Amino acid sequence: MRLGSGTFAAGCVVIEVLGVALFLRGFFPAPVFSGAERQAESPAPEPSAGASSNWTELPPPLFSKVVILLIDALRDDFVFGSKGVKFMPYTTYLVEKGSSLSFVAEAKPPTVTMPRIKALLTGSLPGFIDVVRNLNSPTLMEDNVITRAKAAGKRIIFYGDETWVKLFPKHFVEYDGTTSFFVSDYTEVDNNVTRHLDKVLKRQDWDMLILHYLGLDHIGHISGPSSPLVGHKLSEMDSILMKIHTALLAEERDPLLPSLLVLCGDHGMSEAGGHGASSMEEVNTALVLVSSAFERKPGDVRHPTRVQQTDLAATLSIGLGLPIPKSNTGGLMFPVVEGRPMREQLRFLHLNTVQLSKLLQENVPSYNKEPGFEQFKVSERSHRNWIRLYLEENNSEVVFNLGAKVRRQYLDALRTLKLSLSRRAAQYDVYSMAVGTVLVLEALVLLLLSVPQALSSRAELDVPLLSPVCSLLFYLLLLALAALHVVVCTAADSSCYLCSLPWLAAGGVMTLIAALLCAGMSALTRVFAGGKCLSQVELAFQNPPQSTSRWSELDLLSFLGTVGHVLSLGASSFIEEEHQTWYFLVNTLCLALCHQIYRKCLLGDDCAPQHCPHTGEEFDGVAVALQGKRAGPEGWELSRAPADPSSLEALRGSERWMVLASPWLVLACCRLLRSLNQTGVQWAHRPDLGHWLTR
Ligand SMILES: [Zn+2]
Ligand SMILES: [Zn+2]
Repeated sequence: MRLGSGTFAAGCVVIEVLGVALFLRGFFPAPVFSGAERQAESPAPEPSAGASSNWTELPPPLFSKVVILLIDALRDDFVFGSKGVKFMPYTTYLVEKGSSLSFVAEAKPPTVTMPRIKALLTGSLPGFIDVVRNLNSPTLMEDNVITRAKAAGKRIIFYGDETWVKLFPKHFVEYDGTTSFFVSDYTEVDNNVTRHLDKVLKRQDWDMLILHYLGLDHIGHISGPSSPLVGHKLSEMDSILMKIHTALLAEERDPLLPSLLVLCGDHGMSEAGGHGASSMEEVNTALVLVSSAFERKPGDVRHPTRVQQTDLAATLSIGLGLPIPKSNTGGLMFPVVEGRPMREQLRFLHLNTVQLSKLLQENVPSYNKEPGFEQFKVSERSHRNWIRLYLEENNSEVVFNLGAKVRRQYLDALRTLKLSLSRRAAQYDVYSMAVGTVLVLEALVLLLLSVPQALSSRAELDVPLLSPVCSLLFYLLLLALAALHVVVCTAADSSCYLCSLPWLAAGGVMTLIAALLCAGMSALTRVFAGGKCLSQVELAFQNPPQSTSRWSELDLLSFLGTVGHVLSLGASSFIEEEHQTWYFLVNTLCLALCHQIYRKCLLGDDCAPQHCPHTGEEFDGVAVALQGKRAGPEGWELSRAPADPSSLEALRGSERWMVLASPWLVLACCRLLRSLNQTGVQWAHRPDLGHWLTR
């Protein structure tokens, strides 16, 4: 099968992309999620309900009102460290002596705003799907606290980062989104949130208020975590927290139904001021729950404990009297319900473990062998016995001690369930990764072996897919691969992505692997039997292809590259390195240009050096010559009998060298431009030439 070098390269690129996609699909954790229908499912009743207990309803809410104060990039030491003591006196007082619970919440990478908001509200772990979906930020379809709260008739008000408005377009009774587009602005963006506060805190017509402040994150991006601006911003946030807390306390009428104020961050901030990766500074965020329900006795010292960020979803659901989101992998933060009667505590723990074990059942085929599931069954049984005892003889110390034992069992089960779910989500799919790697390597070898042919005069390749010897090898390989696939996919607990594909698609991948291997092998033999190669080139030379394409590869590359780059600009919340695609594009373009020029001038393509384009019209010259080449036999004539005489004049030695050097010159200029101002996070620590010039 004979192919033009452009078609061949495009084919290889497609295969490479397919291989990389397969690899990534295996590399990113498969999402642990619940496929069950969202509504119309009654909550799990208390064990032994019907027999002796009749508590089948969801427990009532613990808090009347909830205010979530989300400060973007609120690292744990901004609140609990020396900066907190210095700049957030009110918060420090609450953390150390007030009625509050403090935690260091660990965020999972990618530590970027949208996936973190999702994790906070759904309690689920991010998967490959999330990374893809983040590119166009659609409505959050997964079961989450906000949707549940709205369904329960809660009135929710939101002010802050407009990501929330995109995620929940119809959920808020009132909202004002601020854009995170102007990173250099850290004042207005927060004032736009604060200006609503005075009015809304006086009003009675809401149940949930969410505020998302972006200023701190912007300061981080501009000048890093040790900038003096951070201190100012933290003081501002502290006064806002004080304002909200005093307003909530003033309004609290019913001591049995207090309000809850949640201070949290979505992710941390690296020492360079960015975020996205998994360093300790980016992963650890502060989480403080403030409510008069957490009143402490004198001398009660509470240190911040470590929790997962995903634990907030379950805690909020229980605090608001809502069902726990179905895909939640987090556990209830137990100190929140510690002050409640034993029966309620056990009920909350039961609801959480039931939800987690259901999720485990849906995602793990051999779930009943998991230790967490067994622990859950044991605790449920002891819970049932305890209820019977509790209803018979109330208020005895024996009942309380037994209850404490059941509680311990539940907490252990909760921990193990969480662990096996998160391990599940962090499992690599080695089979898909291996297949992806093989595809990429095969395409790469084929490309490398074809370089001599691609550089030859006609830029044509004879891809030996159809020769009969190949066929035999091909069928044998296909058979072996199919056998391997069946063995891997029928193994006990396989959860490979490739196995979940329809047989036809998997078969296609196997065919591709076998075919590529055959092609690679025969390309290899051809390289060793060199003469044959030459004769094929000659053959190709005699029969030029009849191509009518009006676009050259370079045109196509610049067009598709530009479109791709423009599209990538829309993904500001996930990739903070969009400019990398631009660098990549420009470099590729230069190298492709270089390849064209060298082929023409050095390898005697189109024969004599006089066909080297003129320096002045270098780009036009190449394009004209290229298009001439593409246009087939007539075009061939065209480039010999130049359309634009000036472009194909004979070149003197020095000019010729300039033509040859120009792509490298352009590349060097690009590199220089790049170091003029290093944007993004990755190279932010390198000194900028621009700074040096303006100094
Ligand atoms: Zn953020
Ligand atoms: Zn940011």
